[in-house]
Amino acid sequence: MDAFNYINGQLCCEDLPVADIVAQAGSPVYIYSKATLLDHYTKLASSFADVDTTVCYSIKTLSNLSILNVLKGAGSGFDVVSGGELARAMAIGADPQKIVYAGVGKTDAEIRYALECNIGWFNIESEMEFETISAIAAEMGVTTRGALRINPDVYDPKTHAYTTTGKKETKFGVDIDRAEDFFDRYGRDEHVKLDSIHLHIGSPIYSADPYVAALKKALVFIDAIRAKGMEINVLDLGGGFAADYETGKSPLAADYAAEILPLIKQANVNLILEPGRHIACNAGILATKVLYTKTGGEKKFLIADAAMTDLLRPALYQAEHFVYPVQLADGAATPERKLTYAPEGGVTVDIVGGVCETSDTLAHARTLPPMTRGDLLAIFGAGAYGFVMASTYNTRPRPAEVLVDGDTFKVIRPRETAKEIFAPEQSCL
Ligand SMILES: *Cc1c(COP(=O)(O)O)cnc(C)c1O
Repeated sequence: MDAFNYINGQLCCEDLPVADIVAQAGSPVYIYSKATLLDHYTKLASSFADVDTTVCYSIKTLSNLSILNVLKGAGSGFDVVSGGELARAMAIGADPQKIVYAGVGKTDAEIRYALECNIGWFNIESEMEFETISAIAAEMGVTTRGALRINPDVYDPKTHAYTTTGKKETKFGVDIDRAEDFFDRYGRDEHVKLDSIHLHIGSPIYSADPYVAALKKALVFIDAIRAKGMEINVLDLGGGFAADYETGKSPLAADYAAEILPLIKQANVNLILEPGRHIACNAGILATKVLYTKTGGEKKFLIADAAMTDLLRPALYQAEHFVYPVQLADGAATPERKLTYAPEGGVTVDIVGGVCETSDTLAHARTLPPMTRGDLLAIFGAGAYGFVMASTYNTRPRPAEVLVDGDTFKVIRPRETAKEIFAPEQSCL
């Protein structure tokens, strides 16, 4: 479910017309639905409630403090991949014991900060990292908990090469055939209690099968470690749960849980999940205004006021977001959120931004009703890896972010200004 629906031909977020939000907050603007965020969180948490599960929302997906606050209120913990993200979680008063810290390149300062915060787990990515965390904890006179990130060598063939992480040949984690040695070496460490394992096999993963394949390997591994008298108490299954980039594309939380839970019960472990896009993707759109239409050779272009600086996924991963008019023509059918949308009398266009790069495309070859200067477009599925990847290239201020709750909305990050972008430089003149 998500709360972006057409009512009498007008796209609304919850009870508010998107056009009204843009009229007040300007364009381009990221619009998030609180009800959708909570719905996705709750469905996931309740689907896995049969075992002791901690949902640690992946901050990197959509990291606005107001969003984190909403999820904290629903009971979420957090998955962080940097000291900066940890600082965000601490800034909203998150329970540090429900924080997992992943990432292959933790610096000494970040490790020290995480130990000071007394986070729940470090997801550990290499031998050298384990030794570093243990040494810093020893020096500080504290203890912590570690989850070894294991590479189960499975992957989903549908996942883009850049977002596949569960194969042997990635920079992430430790190969499963090396993991037993890892526990032999470090499983009895005094400063980092190594009693957990972490599997994050890639993203997005459009079926439960890769999780099941990874868990079957993990079960064998857990048995082997326990047979040696060491404990495995927690299994962190990572994130990667898919989202509807097109209608019906993603399994439901309950579909994943039905396949995954029996194996978790068999493993007799507590579960951690690190969902990001499954919660945030369809909870946000990027609204943008058409600046110009133009023709180049055979191609027709819509030039929008949003660009790759605001939404990088199409340029970075060839990601496809469906893009629809905010206002439909009188009597026009409601689009079904498929890339194949082709309304009667439609025109095939590339939707591009104004950045000086040919890769600055928001959507390729889409058939839309004829659009003209000033019309609004909604780029769907933009809640995850949208604003967080925005840059200020071309000194383009980043868009505003707003959060809708019923029939009201709140600016949760004002539109940036050019002055704010260069102020740090100005102070050095
Ligand atoms: C990115 C990431 C996630 C979230 O991935 P989604 O596909 O958004 O669910 C979870 N865990 C780790 C370690 C990650 O790097």
